[in-house]
Amino acid sequence: SMASPALLMRVVASAYSVAEKAATIVRNVMSAGDLGIVEKAGPNDLQTKADRLVQMSICASLARKFPKVTIIGEEELPADDVTEDLIENGHCEEILKKPCPAQYTGIKEEELVIWVDPLDGTKEYTEGLLDHVTVLIGIAYGGKAIAGVINQPYYNYEAGANAVLGRTIWGVLGMGAFGFQLTEAPAGKHIVITTRSHSSALVNECITALNPDAVIRVGGAGNKIIQLIEGKASAYVFASPGCKKWDTCAPEAILHAVGGKFITDIRGNPFQYNKEVKHMNSAGVLAALRNYDYYASRIPNTVKESLVP
Ligand code: AMP
Ligand code: MG
Ligand code: MG
Repeated sequence: SMASPALLMRVVASAYSVAEKAATIVRNVMSAGDLGIVEKAGPNDLQTKADRLVQMSICASLARKFPKVTIIGEEELPADDVTEDLIENGHCEEILKKPCPAQYTGIKEEELVIWVDPLDGTKEYTEGLLDHVTVLIGIAYGGKAIAGVINQPYYNYEAGANAVLGRTIWGVLGMGAFGFQLTEAPAGKHIVITTRSHSSALVNECITALNPDAVIRVGGAGNKIIQLIEGKASAYVFASPGCKKWDTCAPEAILHAVGGKFITDIRGNPFQYNKEVKHMNSAGVLAALRNYDYYASRIPNTVKESLVP
């Protein structure tokens, strides 16, 4: 018989289906109408019933299939038993058929860390800005983001009843990324994309210093990376703490898989994704598909000095 597919490809194939189930939960909670909003750190740090159910669904489904993998999710939940209806057993057959990049074929379960943001863009979800929302499953090995799945549950939601609602983007370093059309931002234009609901004087000072042609303010780290790889924006700039490892792991893997350079903090240090790492990206976020150095070289020292890693 044929050798069974490499662990990494089995994890990505399962994460794909788990993320699709997550998207269904996100849509169902919204259409049922009771969001069950809870404030975490404050009014700009929310959790809904969808965040809770999706975290349980993703973490329990992946833990059941890959019991030795470390899974770190955003939400702190009581250790309730997860009901069987939240479990996804399936996987994407097409992903399983693809060869694993040679450098990852020997990975063992205990060497993987999965970073889960069950619902990225919660604030926007509660405000009806539905296409800002993504589900993020990032896969790390040796401290690096090497694979990721981003589901956008409301992709196409304003495109009419005939459009297919939702999509799943996935990628692996050394393979590329799939589920979207890679597009470069307009040449010679500097379009900065940043937070909508977590701005600060420093965030704005940093953007002003870049002298951009346009600034797009939208929710979600996943959403912003999608806009980079689809050519809507040229750089994601966030000179603030607040973003966590589960926000950046899947987006970073996908951006890197298509040759983006790179998600680092605003000082130029790469992120680490080993299980012991601090969750908070305290020194902000800087990412671009092209011309990363243009943006990195224009971040003012005063901004860098204000952000302690
Ligand atoms: P945003 O671009 O504001 O949507 O932020 C991207 C991700 O980082 C989201 O998951 C936010 O919840 C999180 N984030 C950014 N800044 C903060 C903050 N000040 N407090 C809590 N979460 C934040
Ligand atoms: Mg998030
Ligand atoms: Mg979240």
